[in-house]
Amino acid sequence: MSVANSQVIGFIGLGTMGIEMTRNLLKAGHTVQAFDVVPHALQAATEAGARVCSSVAEAAKDAFLIVTMLPDTPQVQEVVLGEGGLYANPPQGRIIIDMSTISPQAVRAMSATLKAGGIDLLDAPVSGGPQGAKSATLTIMVGGDAAAYERARPILAAMGTTINHVGSSGAGQTVKLCNQLMVGINLQAVCEAIALGRASGVDLAQMREVLLGGSAASWMLDRLGPAMIGGDASAGFRIDLMLKDLRLVGELAQSLSVPLPGNALVTTQYMEAKAHGEGGNGNQALFKVYDRMCNRSAA
Ligand code: NAD
Repeated sequence: MSVANSQVIGFIGLGTMGIEMTRNLLKAGHTVQAFDVVPHALQAATEAGARVCSSVAEAAKDAFLIVTMLPDTPQVQEVVLGEGGLYANPPQGRIIIDMSTISPQAVRAMSATLKAGGIDLLDAPVSGGPQGAKSATLTIMVGGDAAAYERARPILAAMGTTINHVGSSGAGQTVKLCNQLMVGINLQAVCEAIALGRASGVDLAQMREVLLGGSAASWMLDRLGPAMIGGDASAGFRIDLMLKDLRLVGELAQSLSVPLPGNALVTTQYMEAKAHGEGGNGNQALFKVYDRMCNRSAA
């Protein structure tokens, strides 16, 4: 594989995360061949300086590798194994990096099919949100063939800073789902502390500052606490995506007979939020569930 080819990257899925990651690949000097099913996503890619393509096959043509950043398992399966997909139209370097959060079981099945065709699939989900995607500081958890990981690592380094190969196919998704399980339960803990502190009449901004200096400190309290205290439900990692991730956690846990009561409880609360029309809000909107339970809906 020539150096010139290694600079051409196919990118599929230019949503909230994908467009920022594309910008960083371009900044790092790569040529990006971008494809999405939504016209405004393609428009954003054009404005960013990517070469916009009209199909998955066109995005993969002459590319060293291809990155997918799609909503859920069915979309990745369609792009990889569906008609006109990457199995039939692999990139030259025969590596696909799926950076979406999807089912580890599905990753392993896809990886086995692709391997038989001489193509490596790395599962490389991320943590850090749109801000991490924008600043190229994502945490990236990679599962799959170690040699393919070494070849792909320089590309991943344009999008993240904490990059680890955590095991064989599916291991990256498994670590990501453990991350999401902790995110959900931790956010619930912050909601409960805020609900209790508020009902007691303490200064919540000061309470947050104090707690950040002690053993209850957390990323959720630090980054999402101000929005929760200020009643801002809007921006951030969407509740719909969180529910998808918690569903994947539940499926994995069931397949391994691991009881996760915390996951079941927080999933129910996110379902309540979605039923109140908050699926498009940031995941900190979980605090609204507590507002309702405390009869503070108008707060
Ligand atoms: P998004 O919905 O904003 O973007 C997904 C993009 O994929 C959309 O532009 C959509 O049009 C496109 N798409 C869907 N089906 C397609 C297909 N068949 N072919 C081509 N394009 C297709 O989602 P996002 O927030 O960018 O998240 C992407 C993935 O990253 C998800 O799995 C999510 O769970 C994960 N993730 C998101 C965040 C976050 O904060 N948003 C953080 C970490 C991980």
